[in-house]
Amino acid sequence: MAEQKKLQPDLAFVKGVMEAGGDTVNKCYQCATCSVVCPLSTDESPFPRKEMLWAQWGLASKVAGDADVWLCHQCGDCTKYCPRGARPGDVLGAIRANAIKYYATPRALADMLGTSGGMWGAVVAAAVLWFIVAAIWAQITGEAFPFPEGSIEFHKYLSVIPIDAVMLPIVGLISFVCYKAITAFWADISEGANMPRSFNGTYPTPPLGILVSNYIVPAVKEIIAHERFKKCGQTAERTKGHQWVLIAFIILFIVTIIVMVYADILGGLLGMEGFHTPLALWNPVKIAANIGAFLLIAGIWMIKSMRDAKTEEGVLKSSQQDWNLIWLIFAVGVTGVGAEIFRLVGIKLIAYPVYTLHLACVLILFLSLPYTKFAHLIYRTTAYVHEKWAQDVRAGKAGFGLEKPVGTDEH
Ligand code: SF4
Ligand code: SF4
Repeated sequence: MAEQKKLQPDLAFVKGVMEAGGDTVNKCYQCATCSVVCPLSTDESPFPRKEMLWAQWGLASKVAGDADVWLCHQCGDCTKYCPRGARPGDVLGAIRANAIKYYATPRALADMLGTSGGMWGAVVAAAVLWFIVAAIWAQITGEAFPFPEGSIEFHKYLSVIPIDAVMLPIVGLISFVCYKAITAFWADISEGANMPRSFNGTYPTPPLGILVSNYIVPAVKEIIAHERFKKCGQTAERTKGHQWVLIAFIILFIVTIIVMVYADILGGLLGMEGFHTPLALWNPVKIAANIGAFLLIAGIWMIKSMRDAKTEEGVLKSSQQDWNLIWLIFAVGVTGVGAEIFRLVGIKLIAYPVYTLHLACVLILFLSLPYTKFAHLIYRTTAYVHEKWAQDVRAGKAGFGLEKPVGTDEH
């Protein structure tokens, strides 16, 4: 991105930051107290003072491509000590919300999913879509619709074939949108960090194997362990809820893959014995799924309660994006457990509609990955990876073919 373009004040960006909860940005008078008290700021690249200035000046692309914005975990420590009430923690949260829109393709989807009406309207539309797909599937299979005959078995209503027919194209599309956003973000944060360019003018990345082993795996480990969250002072207690939600997603992702492969494909399509759904409650995969569901609901409720309490104390503000994601994750968990309970007690009239709603919430949660606060997952991970990569390049350990597998340069 050209330097000249980056220095153009973007008043729409300033307005967007203010509307997303950063309306105190102009109170900042650059005393730097925030950068001193921030438990996550580094000597090499202190924040959030500089981001406050850039946001005041409307330097949209500069702020959007600033990796430090994503190293902030909105603990609120800086907000507590800011002598001007400029609330830098909230401003950085608002900047992140705008950065997500900045890299979103199409941006209109980010705008839509950022509102409460847009988000829940999308869930209703997805539920209607699943209902239509189930009706078509019933025509093909000859099952009664909308309530299949006999015991409640969700695969009679929507099996892996129609579910995959809808989900796989969306997975492909979202993966492409995420890839496009990450590569643009990587180029911008490389420019912001004054990284050296390749001979063709692009910013290099490590070879794939090195990227995964030396950078992505350590970053993911650090994120799962929540090492930086634990350093936060004012909102340290949210670590547990956040960690539970993340672990729940990992468990539920693995369980979904296992069920898809073993129950839907091997047991369903190929007719092998022993892998048919619904799985018995004592089945280890089912036990793992229920543990994941419990962690998801309990974890997101902890996060919601923390936000309520900290908002009341004045430590942080919560935007519509924050609440949209919290309630959508909560809806995924509650409809999933609800569908299982109504199936077990045999109430068809409720079990199938709740299952339809569950699939709708899952679809919109997945669709929202690059467009809502859920995008923290991809941008924060990228920022962690880039931080370590930049450190190694500056230390002469990596860059332009210097990369070595972990542990080979320690002697
Ligand atoms: S946000 Fe507050 S603490 Fe930080 S530089 Fe501005 S006035 Fe100082
Ligand atoms: S909210 Fe916390 S992590 Fe973010 S800049 Fe302020 S003190 Fe640092």
